[in-house]
Amino acid sequence: MNAALIIDSAYFVAAFLFIFGLKRMSSPVTASTGIRWAGLGMVVAVLASFLYVVDVEPDARPFLTTNVILAVIALVLGLGWAWWSGKKVAMTAMPQMVALYNGMGGGAAAAIAAIELFGGKAHVGVGLALAVLGGLIGSISLSGSLIAWGKLDGRINKTLRLAGLQAINGTLLLVLVGIGAYVVYAHGQVPVAVLAVFFALALFYGVMMTMPIGGADMPVVISLYNAFTGLAVGFEGYVLNNPALMIAGMVVGSAGTLLTLLMAKAMNRSVSNVLFSNFGAAGDEQQGEISGSMKPVDAGDAGINMRYASKVIIAPGYGLAVAQAQHKLYEFVKLIQDAGVEVKFAIHPVAGRMPGHMNVLLAEAGVPYDIIYDMEDINNEFKEADVAIVIGANDTVNPAARTNKSSPIYGMPILNVDQAKQVYVVKRGQGKGYSGVENELFFRDNCNMVYGDAQKVMVAMIQAVKSLEGGH
Ligand code: NDP
Repeated sequence: MNAALIIDSAYFVAAFLFIFGLKRMSSPVTASTGIRWAGLGMVVAVLASFLYVVDVEPDARPFLTTNVILAVIALVLGLGWAWWSGKKVAMTAMPQMVALYNGMGGGAAAAIAAIELFGGKAHVGVGLALAVLGGLIGSISLSGSLIAWGKLDGRINKTLRLAGLQAINGTLLLVLVGIGAYVVYAHGQVPVAVLAVFFALALFYGVMMTMPIGGADMPVVISLYNAFTGLAVGFEGYVLNNPALMIAGMVVGSAGTLLTLLMAKAMNRSVSNVLFSNFGAAGDEQQGEISGSMKPVDAGDAGINMRYASKVIIAPGYGLAVAQAQHKLYEFVKLIQDAGVEVKFAIHPVAGRMPGHMNVLLAEAGVPYDIIYDMEDINNEFKEADVAIVIGANDTVNPAARTNKSSPIYGMPILNVDQAKQVYVVKRGQGKGYSGVENELFFRDNCNMVYGDAQKVMVAMIQAVKSLEGGH
């Protein structure tokens, strides 16, 4: 069998494994094996690349040894770093890591484009146009994801708000499209400086596009870059005539596009609205007067009250991940379920810091999927609940989203926790949510604050309920 046939067959197997893995990832029950199958696909695709050495083109032969050595060094470094960082990353830092890896995918696609364009190698016509487009999108995805990483990691706290920013960004984009069109028109025969400016401007555009996007709109941006990276990789796969890259890119691109649309829908925004308005920016919105006061209660008392409720709905948020309280929370849930309480989890689509964050957390604690509900499936049930307990969530339960037009989260659907007879909010203090907005829910008559780290609060609730059982 010749090398080309083996390579093509290996790519076919890899593509199959990617799609099969993705299919399994669509349900939490099969997701962890799905990621292994897709990972295996990646190993097959990488190994297949090395088969090129068998019948390498004659003009590339002199560089073969150097290139193989470079590829092995890159693989060892990449594997080592990914292994080490993947092992040590805290669950709370996972979203940043996803943003970083995503950016690297975009960067890798842009690097392929740069090699093709600077080396004058891309085929004239569709190949050249796609190399340029992939270079543009990949560069935007690289710098944009790095800014998103900085924002999620709390390293960049500023939301850039400049008068005329939209006009500046619009002009930048036009210039980029203009240069790209010129490169294609000139059959790629353009001065090196033109290409350098093209890539530098594309990177700068990624920064400018992401900096104004604040608080609550970040999920849409993150999934958009996911889609961008996939597209860029797919385009460069075409340029290199590499089916594995094309298929992997298309899979990521289409999954990312669907996720972007879902996230935008969850925020009740259009994607263009997120990108081209200053929506979601934290800070200077008018809060309006919030009346009432925050009423703290003891964790044990709240726990006991839930033990005697007939229906409790739990709204988890980012703070649950910070506190790593999912195991204790589920222990508490089992206790009150044993006492006959009906318990359900309500998941807001943008709760936490990455799509599916809460589902991952609850799955880790072993919470059965049949008591976990998406927002639209459970929102009507809050009015029948005796207790809604909000654990480390804030923006996703903020009623300002319904009523306060000047709020950066206005229009975003929220969990209707305020409709329950009694609301408990577990949080450490006066900290705001990711969007930086005050939450009037905490001041409502039917709301009590249970202050403390979510894990400690859950332990106190468990003890209180257990001591009650022991006392009877
Ligand atoms: P929020 O970020 O709105 O609020 C989290 C709350 O948790 C804070 O008010 C904080 O208050 C509390 N908290 C933090 N640590 C602890 C702890 N150890 N124990 C108890 N409480 C704690 O969370 P939500 O999940 O409601 O909303 C998610 C936000 O993040 C949305 O604005 C969303 O748009 C945004 N976002 C979501 C992404 C996604 O893909 N899901 C990506 C990027 C942003 P205190 O400090 O007082 O304890």
